Amino acid sequence: MIRRLAIIGVGLIGGSLARALRAAGAVGEVVGSGRRAEHLQQAVDLGVIDRFSTDPAAAVTGADLIVVAVPLGAMGEVFRAIVPHLAADAVVTDVGSAKAAVVTALREALGEVPDWFVPGHPIAGTERSGVAASFAELFQGRRVILTPLAHTDPQAVARVRAMWQHAGAEVVEMGVELHDEVLAATSHLPHVLAFALVDSLARMHEHNEIFTYAAGGFRDFTRIASSDPVMWRDICLANRAALLDMIERFNRDLGEMTRAIEDGDGDALLEIFSRAKQARDEHVLRGEE
Ligand code: NAP
Repeated sequence: MIRRLAIIGVGLIGGSLARALRAAGAVGEVVGSGRRAEHLQQAVDLGVIDRFSTDPAAAVTGADLIVVAVPLGAMGEVFRAIVPHLAADAVVTDVGSAKAAVVTALREALGEVPDWFVPGHPIAGTERSGVAASFAELFQGRRVILTPLAHTDPQAVARVRAMWQHAGAEVVEMGVELHDEVLAATSHLPHVLAFALVDSLARMHEHNEIFTYAAGGFRDFTRIASSDPVMWRDICLANRAALLDMIERFNRDLGEMTRAIEDGDGDALLEIFSRAKQARDEHVLRGEE
């Protein structure tokens, strides 16, 4: 049971977590913080948080668990603002989509990564943002990755793990570097490709005409290009090295496919498409069953 939960950044992720913990009866009081009072008042009106302060230092006072759920580019300033005001037994976690950048932001802000900080990342989300888009079921049956460092307090990890389990998630642990490589491949590269494809088509002369004919396949492939541009700018910059490795690998493979099309090499295309279909059917479709 969390006595007082402070959520810094009451948007899609922070708001959904608050809703889920309230629905589970796992939290006493929820205090929110963010830049805009009207967003926080909306969170109160929706019953997501009990009260708020636009001053993050005031919001964390007396809280036993603090979740930082702001865009990656804002993590450093939030850490600097809250740390002097934390209760002695407080545990802090975050939900940022890239982990090395968050650990670095904390180290730069404090000179070290404290043992009460547990880096985390829920593998759940939608292309929408803001507290109005939040819902209690977002994390139900979804994975949350925690990336504790060697010196992170196991009791702090246990408290963050329990919080996510109350929200309905399955919690796994992995190293910071592996997390960033895995997410570059499975999330960050697909978002870059979706943004690139839609932008490329939108800049063609006939784009109005083209989008008129966009049907199921195009919608499926590009849904994530409706995601928040600020959040994705921050993610691409925060996970730059791992993302660049993936883009390089992808460019190589796209080059191979381009050559097969140029050469009219149907066998090569069939081989690539069959391999991809088998991999998706096996790993993605099976996971949806
Ligand atoms: P969001 O809906 O836009 O929420 C972000 C919240 O942070 C907003 O309520 C915003 O409120 C507040 N905020 C922004 N800058 C701030 C600052 N400088 N100081 C204090 N508050 C600030 O975004 P989200 O989708 O929940 O994403 C939040 C975090 O979750 C990001 O780090 C992202 O990488 C991670 N994440 C997202 C997803 C996803 O699919 N969306 C999935 C997993 C993890 P104000 O505008 O009022 O300040």
